[in-house]
Amino acid sequence: MKTTIHAAILALMISGAAMAAEDPGISVSRPGDTPQTQGSAQLFSGEVLVGQLFRGTAPATISGGVVSFNASARTAWHTHPLGQTLYVISGNGRVQQWGKPVQEMKTGDIVLIPPGVKHWHGASATSAMSHLAFAEQLDGKVVTWMELVSDAQYLSEPSPK
Ligand code: MN
Repeated sequence: MKTTIHAAILALMISGAAMAAEDPGISVSRPGDTPQTQGSAQLFSGEVLVGQLFRGTAPATISGGVVSFNASARTAWHTHPLGQTLYVISGNGRVQQWGKPVQEMKTGDIVLIPPGVKHWHGASATSAMSHLAFAEQLDGKVVTWMELVSDAQYLSEPSPK
């Protein structure tokens, strides 16, 4: 028994040493260090700024970004292979799952989008909206893009909360 425990502790110490050898160190990036790009007209309607904030260190596959939508701007329809989590930083927005009513989201709200669910997200018609977005890759892929959201789809009445 004692030998087993010693072996376990030794194994932990070895793995700890291996981790230390590969430790890239804590990194702090400042506002402006990370790239910000205009959302392309194939993937977004309206004015959208996409900022890639971070990527996890392998084997982690998480990545996160901030997306800022002008009023009426939104993503195209899309899916995420392992789902996506949104945190609304500011403003009022909308999110819709294919075949379901539009839902409103506002500052401080958290939106959980399950794996493979077709959806879009964006600002409300009268307010800009920024959200953080977190997702994990599957086979190197974090999103599958589809068609743009039509004005009729976008302007459908949100469901009462
Ligand atoms: Mn999404």
